[in-house]
Amino acid sequence: MNHAANANLFSRLFDTLDDPSRLAIETHDGGRITYGDLIARTGQMANVLVSSGVKPGDRVAVQVEKSVENLVLYLATVRAGGVYLPLNTAYTLNELDYFITDAEPSLVVCDPSKAEGIRPIAAKVGAKVETLDASGKGSLTEAAEKADSAFVTVPRAADDLAAILYTSGTTGRSKGAMLSHDNLASNSLTLVDYWRFTRDDVLIHALPIYHTHGLFVASNVTLFARASMIFLPKLDAELIIKLMVRATVLMGVPTFYTRLLQNPHLDKETTKHMRLFVSGSAPLLADTHREWFARTGHAVLERYGMTETNMNTSNPYDGERVPGAVGFPLPGVSLRVTDPETGKELARDEIGMIEVKGPNVFGGYWRMPEKTKSEFRDDGFFITGDLGKIDPKGYVHILGRGKDLVISGGFNVYPKEIESEIDAMPGVVESAVIGVPHPDFGEGVTAVVVRHAGADISEAGVLKALDGRLAKFKMPKRVFIVDELPRNAMSKVQKNVLRDQYKDIYTK
Ligand code: AMP
Repeated sequence: MNHAANANLFSRLFDTLDDPSRLAIETHDGGRITYGDLIARTGQMANVLVSSGVKPGDRVAVQVEKSVENLVLYLATVRAGGVYLPLNTAYTLNELDYFITDAEPSLVVCDPSKAEGIRPIAAKVGAKVETLDASGKGSLTEAAEKADSAFVTVPRAADDLAAILYTSGTTGRSKGAMLSHDNLASNSLTLVDYWRFTRDDVLIHALPIYHTHGLFVASNVTLFARASMIFLPKLDAELIIKLMVRATVLMGVPTFYTRLLQNPHLDKETTKHMRLFVSGSAPLLADTHREWFARTGHAVLERYGMTETNMNTSNPYDGERVPGAVGFPLPGVSLRVTDPETGKELARDEIGMIEVKGPNVFGGYWRMPEKTKSEFRDDGFFITGDLGKIDPKGYVHILGRGKDLVISGGFNVYPKEIESEIDAMPGVVESAVIGVPHPDFGEGVTAVVVRHAGADISEAGVLKALDGRLAKFKMPKRVFIVDELPRNAMSKVQKNVLRDQYKDIYTK
């Protein structure tokens, strides 16, 4: 294969680099890494990977804290033709056992504190273990510092695997989504264009990099644009607001926006250098969108994607960014809404299953051919599992995961519809509507409501306010007032946790 034709994501990212002295990454503690440095470091790391026995197609499983070295390890794995497999830092040894046994990596990289526990697990599949800590130190970087920076990027075809990301697996076993070099490159290039990234952009990067949002959307888009990013270990509202005076873009999950809104320094002045705020990975409350606009004069741009598909839709750069909507299908992405039972395409405004097709959509689940087959239609559309609709103007709306649909007395109840009603009540921060076993109705509609401190919200008050606004079958049978909803690191409300917590309320 000639070099120019190399479809390796790394080649597509950097073969056309014209100015290696440009800044690529700044760290919170003053480190500055140019594009030239970044490429040299990935060369060193790729040489270490190859000498550790990583061959093209081999998985490199990585459970480490966020650091520049962690990003270098991702790029180096791809460069060496390996398959990068990031793992949430919260996973326990028991969970890691499942991922490592399933993925059979040839190398596992972990925090030094976990190495002892991981060694026997890695040994079962013949994987080596190397270490990398939160400050970027460990056996891996020690070896990389001594290695040669010259490395010829391993040729890969467009549909060869670049990464496997395990889905969060709130129902059943977690599945490894297989992402190709072209899935990642094509989606990032589309986003660079759609969101008007240029080399002058400075992204505040405070997302974790074991997930599609921080790893691919944030990092790949910045690097493709030859822009730079300020790499922060985690969300720090005060620091982010300070950095905004010289940054241009923030990508966050909804929690970023609610947390930043709590800070008195957030205003039009502190955000005036910024050009774009992107939100995704979980629904941004319409209220948060409006409040953000009132405080800063910026309309948050909400987009919708998932591990398996990369990004599918986005609100427009120019044009109206509609609160509560996730915008239009991205160029090259086909999106339709179908009847979940028959698979027949539905008309505008009808609620059904969202299906997508395009170069962004993954090839299937790792070693799960049956599962893969059942989640694709014969014409190649992937069944996302998200319920939604397309409104008359073409904007896509997400109404929640299909598995969160409540079926009460034989009727479909879409939680989002009830949540929107409750969220609009004065004194309510947010709500989650779930279905839990009910002896008469199959599932009983149940609302869990978070109120503003000191607000006068009660079960009876919520029910009274809903009365007459919702059909009887949609009315919650019970309303619980709580301090906060359980969320995962990507800001998603964990409805499975709530369903479990309230599972006996109608049956006891
Ligand atoms: P993950 O694979 O962890 O990124 O989760 C993907 C899921 O997150 C999607 O299938 C949606 O259910 C949800 N999601 C992502 N972005 C949005 C959004 N903007 N609004 C509502 N749900 C979203």
